[in-house]
Amino acid sequence: MDKGLVLVNTGNGKGKTTAALGLALRAVGNGQKVLILQFIKGAWKYGELSALERLSPDVEIHPLGNGFVRHNKKDGGQKEFQQHQEKARAAWETVKNEVMSDQWDLIILDEVNYAVDFGLLRVEDVVDLIKKRPERLNIVLTGRNARPEVIAIADTVTEMKLIKHAFEKGIRARRGIEF
Ligand code: ATP
Ligand code: MG
Repeated sequence: MDKGLVLVNTGNGKGKTTAALGLALRAVGNGQKVLILQFIKGAWKYGELSALERLSPDVEIHPLGNGFVRHNKKDGGQKEFQQHQEKARAAWETVKNEVMSDQWDLIILDEVNYAVDFGLLRVEDVVDLIKKRPERLNIVLTGRNARPEVIAIADTVTEMKLIKHAFEKGIRARRGIEF
């Protein structure tokens, strides 16, 4: 049995989540079981959700409740931010249980880097869980601003570099491309 790998998709360019989805397809095609955990509410769009339903039970998506809503620290009050942190810690228990269950070959933690960057999760907790994961488990972590601590323990790290994005010339999110 091969030891599982840790992959990170980060950077400001488009493609972090969609590359992770490509990997999910590749894993399922090899008879593997894939779990997708959604850290930021609404990060997964209708298009991929409805396609992934067809791959059930080889692929499962578990939303992590409302622990990881997008939250602007500067706008919201300190109390509100603490409530978000508490919910995020509770949701993290679900993540730990799934990772340690040894039921999965691949787990995608979509937007986990963002949750760390926003102070909703502690980077030490993420690093700790990656280190003690079951031997065979491959993990993908997506999201901008991946922390150096996460990059240090990853095996494959890709930075999507923004050259241009249609959005900059006023083209709104497109069906089949963005959602
Ligand atoms: P995708 O889900 O398309 O792979 P992503 O995961 O790399 O994108 P996120 O930071 O998660 O990017 O942002 C998700 C949404 O924002 C997507 O609809 C994506 O097209 C859009 N987006 C990504 N990068 C940019 C950008 N540089 N400017 C504007 N919109 C962007
Ligand atoms: Mg994304």
